[in-house]
Amino acid sequence: MRFTEEQLQDEIDQDQMYEILKGRGDDQYVKDRTTLVECPAGTAEELNRRGLPLNAIRYYEAIPYHAIYRTWWFPCTVCKWPMKISKRMSAGREYYRVACLYGRHADTGASFMFWPTSGDAPVLHPDSPDAPAPHEAALFLGSDGALPEAKPVEGHLALKRGVWRYTCVPGLHELRLHSVLRERLAATQSDVDEAVTLWPMSDAYDHRVKVKGPDGRSHIFTVDVKDYTHARVLAESLHRNEGDKGGAEWLVVPDHRADQIPLLTLTCDKYGMKAATMTEFARMVCQSAGVRWA
Ligand SMILES: [Zn+2]
Repeated sequence: MRFTEEQLQDEIDQDQMYEILKGRGDDQYVKDRTTLVECPAGTAEELNRRGLPLNAIRYYEAIPYHAIYRTWWFPCTVCKWPMKISKRMSAGREYYRVACLYGRHADTGASFMFWPTSGDAPVLHPDSPDAPAPHEAALFLGSDGALPEAKPVEGHLALKRGVWRYTCVPGLHELRLHSVLRERLAATQSDVDEAVTLWPMSDAYDHRVKVKGPDGRSHIFTVDVKDYTHARVLAESLHRNEGDKGGAEWLVVPDHRADQIPLLTLTCDKYGMKAATMTEFARMVCQSAGVRWA
């Protein structure tokens, strides 16, 4: 695979951010990483208030040029990072499209248009989004249907693209899987904090789930969530590391990447791992704990 200079810089930024967060201990790591996922953009005061270390705040920059219309920007309705704005023409009339750079967010609600304005902030009109299958609804990261308001460029900062793409975008899935499993397992597991852990052991992998089944037997699942655009690149990385770098036994992809499962299953087989979509995985964990998914 050939990488562009921009992609290399994205990876470097992401690796450096990971090192900064790891240096503050395991509990703080979970807190800081959650903050990054939840706040990919904001004012300097907001970021300071969330308690991020100063060297992490350095990875927030001015709102990117591609996301600015005059003096405004718009947060994605799924991830809150500034959406990309592009000028279009329709029947000789100029308009603008606003959409998240991450295609899935654009497909599931973070896609809008507006007419140019001279004085006021523009008002967005939504495109029609994709809806999830009913059994995938619990883990679906759609937008809530609210229109994003125009925010002033001045005074706002946004995470560098690489940190947003490799920490925030998959992080939203990781946080959702964590909270859905906690919620559903709480009734049958005596200690849900111990049963479901996020980014354990300095983030060796993303989730460790230990459940007791109705027959009293324990089941342990160690999971890495992987959100790669191309399954082939992910398979190559598994080959390079001879499995998961942190030793996870399950490789879980967001539901919208279900078409990657056949290739990943073949690759995972070689290293004693298994691949599943997020809903398949959550359903299986619930089943082993005697909890119905549906
Ligand atoms: Zn987004």
